[in-house]
Amino acid sequence: MIMPFDSALPDIAWPAAVSGRGMATLSLLFQLERTQWWPADRLRDGQQAQLKRLLAHATRHVPFYRRRLGKLADADGEAFWQGWRELPLLTRQDVRQAGDDLMSRALPDGHGERTEVYTSGSTGKPIHAVRSDLWLLMWSAVTVREHLWHGRDFSGKLAAIRESTAGKALYPDGEHLDNWGFSTADIFRTAPCVSLNITTPVDDQLKWLLREEPDYLLTHPTMLDRLLRRSAETGLRPRKLRQVLTISEILAPGLRELCRAEWGAPVVDTYSTRETGYLALQCPQADHYHLQSETVLVEILDPAGRPCAPGEIGRVIVTPLHNLAMPLLRYDVGDHAEVGAPCPCGRGLPVIRRILGRRQNMLRAAEGERWPLLSSDDIGKLLALAPIRQYQFAQTHLDRIEVRLQAERMLTDGEKRGVVGWARAKFGQEFRIDLAFPAELSRTTSGKFEDFVCLL
Ligand SMILES: [Zn+2]
Repeated sequence: MIMPFDSALPDIAWPAAVSGRGMATLSLLFQLERTQWWPADRLRDGQQAQLKRLLAHATRHVPFYRRRLGKLADADGEAFWQGWRELPLLTRQDVRQAGDDLMSRALPDGHGERTEVYTSGSTGKPIHAVRSDLWLLMWSAVTVREHLWHGRDFSGKLAAIRESTAGKALYPDGEHLDNWGFSTADIFRTAPCVSLNITTPVDDQLKWLLREEPDYLLTHPTMLDRLLRRSAETGLRPRKLRQVLTISEILAPGLRELCRAEWGAPVVDTYSTRETGYLALQCPQADHYHLQSETVLVEILDPAGRPCAPGEIGRVIVTPLHNLAMPLLRYDVGDHAEVGAPCPCGRGLPVIRRILGRRQNMLRAAEGERWPLLSSDDIGKLLALAPIRQYQFAQTHLDRIEVRLQAERMLTDGEKRGVVGWARAKFGQEFRIDLAFPAELSRTTSGKFEDFVCLL
């Protein structure tokens, strides 16, 4: 790939003298290019060195942590990790209750200004988060890493359907931006980016996409799902798409396959949260994810608080390594993920195979809770049974599951029996299956769509 570096100095053409911030980002990327190949234990040593700085800062300058961390910052090697695993987890409720006590009273030199964000989160109660310019620089480096991993051509047009601010990027024109965003444009010359408000009706979104014909589309998985299904119904498809980038929600099984079939483009998914930034990027050579160990410690823990082994599913516990403005230590983001085996690509960055939802997305049965793991194969079989547009499963009682469907027409009795049989085979013969055909499938208070919800 030709790297179109953007020189910020008019009398320097080659090699480019990029902007000051671009240079800082590149100095991190230079390191990330190497550290991604480090073995897992070397990455953990690096994380430990940074965590100790973070803990020392939190003890001195963050009231919430003043008496909580003991002498952990002085421990070494395995003793450090033992002490680390004894630190209590930080919940969203803890963060809300602590309020300003989680903010650093003295940000060190070189960490820049603070910026504020408010996150909605799946519970709908907002969290007030603060991060430093230094943290944002690390975030930029990972943003550019993601483009490089996936071999993007910066001369291609990027379209984003994610803007949710009322009155912004409205149909029919959307918003036209000069570049792909500051992180990338600090270093590279990029093509323009076009943006459309996510509340635009799906038919108008399709019309807009056909008019813009972007090379890359960035949106939420459930939005992509609606676009693909509408595209299949109308025969209207964007023709130039090289990749579809998904963010901010859990990628449902089957969506990658649907996108390839309808638009001929692969999906590249990113796992991040508003308050913690990037957690994992999709591997360039596989559909699973690599944790971004250089900027964040992600622990996947079983119910007893032990790290999960490959194949096991556990809670996602996150510690951003560089945000001294508001240290979040062992923060429970509310998701679950499955740990994967080391990746054949050779990167030492740990693997998560898939990201699952909140505990409310688990199936409850007499013998306990379990994940209703729906594979793309399962969903393919369901969609072959009847002309189904959208589906959602809701556990309404310990022994009852409601299958909510939006279909192109009324289902025949034979089709209904087929769906009930599929659901029993999938969830268990002990469940009674109710079919429902609501006008709208429900979303969480923050507008996210979940394919399985437990209402008990
Ligand atoms: Zn890999």
